[in-house]
Formats: sequence, C-alpha cells, structure tokens
Amino acid sequence: MKVLVINAGSSSLKYQLMDPQTQEVLAKGLCERIGIDGRLTHKVPATNGKYEFEIPMPTHAEAIQSVLDALTNAEHGVIKSMSEIDAVGHRVVHGGEKFASSVLIDDDVMAAIEECIPLAPLHNPANITGIKACQKVMPGVPMVAVFDTAFHQTMPARAFIYAIPYEYYEENHVRRYGFHGTSHLYVSRRAADILGKPIEELKIVTCHLGNGSSVCAIDGGKSIETSMGFTPLDGLPMGTRCGSIDVSIIEYLMETHHLTIEEVMNILNKKSGVLGVSGVSSDFRDIESAAAEGNKRAQLALDMFCYKTTKRIASASAAMGGIDAVVFTAGVGENSPELREQIVANLGFMGIKIDPEKNKTRGEEKDISAADARVHTLLIPTNEELVIAQDTAAIVGK
Ligand code: AMP
Repeated sequence: MKVLVINAGSSSLKYQLMDPQTQEVLAKGLCERIGIDGRLTHKVPATNGKYEFEIPMPTHAEAIQSVLDALTNAEHGVIKSMSEIDAVGHRVVHGGEKFASSVLIDDDVMAAIEECIPLAPLHNPANITGIKACQKVMPGVPMVAVFDTAFHQTMPARAFIYAIPYEYYEENHVRRYGFHGTSHLYVSRRAADILGKPIEELKIVTCHLGNGSSVCAIDGGKSIETSMGFTPLDGLPMGTRCGSIDVSIIEYLMETHHLTIEEVMNILNKKSGVLGVSGVSSDFRDIESAAAEGNKRAQLALDMFCYKTTKRIASASAAMGGIDAVVFTAGVGENSPELREQIVANLGFMGIKIDPEKNKTRGEEKDISAADARVHTLLIPTNEELVIAQDTAAIVGK
C-alpha cells in the first residue's frame, strides 16, 4: 500500500509518499511560496536524489498537481501513475472535542473541521485548503484526517478545565486541548517497544522540544496531561512563543505601550520565547553559539527554557503519580546533548539520571540513562508522518 501524507500550511505544503507496512519513504518534499510564485523541493531517499523546481503555484491545487507530477516523473519519479496512490493522510491541527482519533474524510467531517476554525484560525484553514486541493486533483482517492489534538482527548476534565466561568467551556469550548499529539503518541509507543514492556504498564513523560515545545504525561498509553492548552501558545517557552504567562501582562502592555490586542498577541506569538529573552534568534543553535561566546541573555534564555522544562517533567510525573521513562524528541530534544543534560540535572531526586557519554549523540534512538538510574531516559526521533500513514492505511483498509 502507498499512502501520500500531506501537511498543508498557509503558503507551504510538505509531503511524503510512504509504504506504511515497510515504513519505506519513497519520496518526500516541500512546496513553498504557494500564492506568491512557487518552489518545489523533491527528494528520493533511495537514490539520495534532491531536485528543485520553480513552478507557478497560485493555489494549493497547483502545488498538489506539481507534487503528483514529481512523483510520476519519468526521471525522478517513484511511481508510474497516480493510481498507485491508495490513500492520502492529512495532518489537521485542531479537531476540537469532536475527534478523539483519525477519521475518513467525508462531507460531515469537512464541516466539523470547518467548525473548528475559530479554535485554530491560522492552521485549520490551511489544512482544509490542502484537503480540498487534493480532492480536486485526486478525485475518488480516500482521504483521512489525523488530528494534532486527538491524542489528548483522553485527558480527564480536572486536567483540561480552566478555572474560568464554566459557561465558557460549555458555550465556547474554552478548555485545554493540547497539540503535537501525533508526535507524543509515536515516541511513547516506540519507548514501550524499546523498553520491551506493554505500554499499558508504563508511565511516560514525553518532551517534544523544537521550535514549538510541549511535554505530555502518558499513563498506560493515554495522554492525561499536557503543557499546550487552548492554543499552542500555552506551556513551555518556545522559539518565538511565550508559553504560560500571567494573563494580566496583556492588559498591562496594552495600557503602558498603547498597543492593540492584536499587537500584543503578535508579540506573544512571534517575538517572545527564547527569541524575546535572548534577542539573538529563535533558533536554539544560534542561541547556544551566542551563549558559548559569552552572551548573557542567550544563556538566560537557555537557562529559562531548561528550568521550565525540568519543572514540567516533574509536574507531569506528579500528575501520573510516578514515572518509568522520560523521552526527548524533536529538533532540540533530538539534537542538543547540552540542553538534555541541563534539563535532567535537577531530577536526580526522582531517579532520572543520564550517562554523559551515552548522551553525546544526535538524532538516533538510544537509551541514554545512567547505569544506576531508576527511570529510563530515552532519545527517540519523532515520526509524525509514519503515524499519519499508518492511521490512514488502517482506516482505509477497513
Ligand atoms: P523542530 O521544530 O522540531 O524542527 O525543531 C527546530 C529547532 O531545533 C530549532 O530551534 C533548531 O535550532 C533546533 N535544533 C536543530 N538541530 C539542533 C542542534 N544540533 N542543536 C541544538 N538545536 C538544534
């Protein structure tokens, strides 16, 4: 079976064509500058081929068409015709309370995803555009929606309810939803495999640390607590997002700087996080380099990020009443031994301890725990596309 995985943004579209059974990635790539001009980067892992094209992409439909052309091209294609694609799996950011798992897309599902637009005004419209473009160019091919929020629908009410008047939950669906669900699910399942134990018997804290970051408490395979909230702005400080702050700051900044609510929200979404504190960059590599050269604010940004992540790991463990494994994943979690070391440094009291030598690694699956640690610390590269492809195959195969 061959599944095309689509992750559509407002002006970009990532894709992977993969076999969910063998997990082989046949081709992957990225369409950029959709609606502006159009650029396609197409990669074929089997031959290490990388191809770049300038193709006009006024809408997502032309972008999808260019992906299909690349996949079926005589020189750098990997399939003979579009008919070899059995199904398409779409990443959809917000499924609200309607979707606790992936689902075959029909008119009712599309309407429900559209209803969730107010909850994710930046993301869901782009995801919907991607689905509609695929339906137009690939009529008759079954499509599945895989939601970032679905995995967290197992959170109990005490974890997802905000302490504001209850009618805002009932009438306006204001609650913690959580995001990065596909990633937390993937790495927690891999952790159970690596540890050779049924996931039902494990308490795992997964740390997805990248440009966006979240921590999740996974008890017996189910998300019971996560750091992102109503939107992906909540929780840990991120590349440019502030994470949890005292909401009174918003009113105070509006008054003292004569800013509109849109301006303040823009600051909290795009100019805060480690970028805002360091003044250097939102990219952790740049911040680590600046800190190494003596930039004090860069060091403060890293210290703050690690400190808050440490606290989140401890509180996620408390939510479960224990911990068997902590997992690091995503750009920072997979690639920065220094930040991993700093994050767990204060968690020895919980039995979390890493081996500094084993920790000197990047981007590979590895148990980096010290020999005398009571809790396993694992490094597991995430693979959201694989979850999307496997969910799609399972649903379409039914
Ligand atoms: P992601 O959102 O998962 O793609 O992660 C992006 C973040 O990972 C960026 O802030 C990168 O700086 C960070 N990252 C990637 N490679 C490294 C590395 N070798 N060391 C530290 N951070 C890294």
